[in-house]
Amino acid sequence: MRSLNAPPPPPPCAGCGGPLPSSSGRGRPRRYCSTCLPATAAIEKAELARRWRQLNPDRVASYNAERREVTSTVVCTVCASPFERPSKARHEVCSHECALARRRERERGRRDAA
Ligand SMILES: [Zn+2]
Ligand SMILES: [Zn+2]
Repeated sequence: MRSLNAPPPPPPCAGCGGPLPSSSGRGRPRRYCSTCLPATAAIEKAELARRWRQLNPDRVASYNAERREVTSTVVCTVCASPFERPSKARHEVCSHECALARRRERERGRRDAA
């Protein structure tokens, strides 16, 4: 004879040990009461973020660098003088004059090749 009418009592809240509200019967059973749930969710989220940062220091560094809009010193490919360039930028010349000079150089090279 099985006692179907006496379900096992729900486990206590994993946070405070208090009684859990009865679940709706769908989805995963609850582990925390409504008082503990927001707090533990925030802690777990912060903990996950902290672990992710530990595992991905380079990603964190590049993210911070992008946010800070840092510039890096690169060397102009035309006049070879160093200049500051935003980390996101891709241009390789220091000035408008050098950009024009490089374009002239390329056009001349194309004419010679043809
Ligand atoms: Zn609780
Ligand atoms: Zn230049």
